[in-house]
Amino acid sequence: MYRYLILFWVIFFVLSSVLRAQDRADDNNAVAAYRDIAEHDARLAQIGYRLSKANAEYCPETLPNMGWVLHDIAQYPNDANVIKAFHFPVPISVLTLVKGGPADRAGVQEGDGYIGLESENLNIKTQYYEHIGDSKGSITRFNHYQRLADVIDDINKTLLDFAHSKDQYIIVKRDDKILKLPFALHNSCATHYTLDVLSKIDAGANGQYVRITLGLSKFLDDDDEYAAVIAHELAHNILKHRMMIADGKAGKGPLTGLGKNKRIRVTEEQADRLAIWLMANAGFDVEAGPSMIERLRKRKGPLSFAYRTHNKWKKRLGYMEQEIEALNTVQPNHSGGRRPPLINSLKYQ
Ligand SMILES: [Zn+2]
Repeated sequence: MYRYLILFWVIFFVLSSVLRAQDRADDNNAVAAYRDIAEHDARLAQIGYRLSKANAEYCPETLPNMGWVLHDIAQYPNDANVIKAFHFPVPISVLTLVKGGPADRAGVQEGDGYIGLESENLNIKTQYYEHIGDSKGSITRFNHYQRLADVIDDINKTLLDFAHSKDQYIIVKRDDKILKLPFALHNSCATHYTLDVLSKIDAGANGQYVRITLGLSKFLDDDDEYAAVIAHELAHNILKHRMMIADGKAGKGPLTGLGKNKRIRVTEEQADRLAIWLMANAGFDVEAGPSMIERLRKRKGPLSFAYRTHNKWKKRLGYMEQEIEALNTVQPNHSGGRRPPLINSLKYQ
């Protein structure tokens, strides 16, 4: 009996250490997966920021852009690996920074906790977010995005109020210290960028947001081709296509009288054309526009990105080639930008 008992313990010990090793491997995989998503977030933030900043003078609406991605511990599942992957001195922290953006230049670091914004001369101080949620800022909910959405809304409104501020500060928590960092504002095209963790190949724009899936972000490993996709979606927002399509249906605006698919195809052509200029102004290789189209065309498997209302591949390539030719006949202005003709003729404001 004793011998069996020893055998039992040996088996138990071997089994449990195998399971522990397996758990550790799973944990490491989970931590790596979280960090991998953060890298795609960083890439989207960097490329989106560059396009929005370089084209600000041509956008009908602009907003200050901090050049950071915040995340909320509550947006994740109930998983201890989240804490291993990221740093949360307070419930909302800095996931990633755009190099050279206002937050980065102010000295904010990845993993800093977001506390608030302040302007001394305007006497504006946003709510301090150290203890949002319950009394200790602890987690009571998971997969919950509303709190972060509210905080980002609040930041955007405060930044608009800061337009006449002479001294503005970002307040962050780093380890146990509260830091008050002065920062400078500048305007960008009024679009926010968001990574959608779906694995399918897809991107979209709704007037305020540009969304790209993790699947598409992984597929486009070339930054210029990635910028081509983002520029296309940003163009939809700049040209207010959402509104234009809805108005056209209601018998208002330039798309009046066109059927639904035709209305969409007109806006798709405009987005393909404008994207080339947006890319050039931000210093991306415009030839990546056509090559991105080619890469998507050759890809096997379902493609939500090119749903039936998009124009045919050949036509899309044609629009882009025409714009590249037109672009090459225009001299850049003193800031290195070229005013896109579609913006000049934009009657729909
Ligand atoms: Zn489109």
